[in-house]
Amino acid sequence: VDDATALSVETTAPAYDGIGGMSEEIARVHEMVAAPLTRPDLYAALGIEAPRGVLFAGPPGSGKTLLARAVAARTRAAFFQIDGPEIVSKHYGDSEAALRRTFTAAQRATPAIIFIDEIDAIAPARASLSGDRQVERRIVAQLLTLMDGLSDRGRVIVMAATNQPDALDPALRRPGRFDREIVFRPPQPSQRRDILAVHLARAPLGPDADLERLAAVTHGYVGADLASLAREAAVAALARASREAGGEAHVRAENLRITAADLDHGLAV
Ligand code: ATP
Repeated sequence: VDDATALSVETTAPAYDGIGGMSEEIARVHEMVAAPLTRPDLYAALGIEAPRGVLFAGPPGSGKTLLARAVAARTRAAFFQIDGPEIVSKHYGDSEAALRRTFTAAQRATPAIIFIDEIDAIAPARASLSGDRQVERRIVAQLLTLMDGLSDRGRVIVMAATNQPDALDPALRRPGRFDREIVFRPPQPSQRRDILAVHLARAPLGPDADLERLAAVTHGYVGADLASLAREAAVAALARASREAGGEAHVRAENLRITAADLDHGLAV
């Protein structure tokens, strides 16, 4: 059985300042999980239960995985990622076993974060499942059992990402399960500027490169789109510099600049 994804532990991860335009979301998640992961005794002293599950709702590429990894890095928590569709595709019984193994490993590696990407693949509303969707039924039941079995004292937090929170099995949203939610909305212009700034932080920008203007014309772009725009602009800048210098061999690194035209090129890709 291939457990590579289920049991991978994060070694290099982004810092909070590598996430653009999401200071509110970062603050909220950090507040929700930092104390439960690192100071569960405080919850115990107050006589309240630490949260176990946080749902990240938002479109693909909006930074859900990025934020989960950054929280893990910041709280020095081990990070375990489970891919919803991949879990569902396993052979009979292997899906539940993989879930169990991940939870066991996380409980041995505390503080730990388990991140379930595309949870809607494994946990669609059970009522909507026809007879041939027994696999998902069993997996949801196993996931609920595992979450209910986590200690009240925090130390393991399960984060799950979905782009359709309303399609999830309502049993998952009950208290003690995924009872907190962070909504990732498509970024506004100032947030898009901040995301572009993160991705171009170390890039040499030409004097005409205007991130403000770029942010204004990228309505509907999520973080992943802006990251690829920045990459394409850099590729365009290199191609242009090579043309101008008569071949890549003649380009001097210190002369490279990303210009407005290169950014527009990234926009067009
Ligand atoms: P999916 O649902 O497809 O897994 P996701 O919401 O988890 O998407 P991420 O994988 O976190 O999205 O984001 C993809 C990439 O987009 C990140 O690796 C990063 O390069 C970039 N990105 C997304 N959001 C941001 C952001 N707010 N700031 C900086 N980069 C971002």
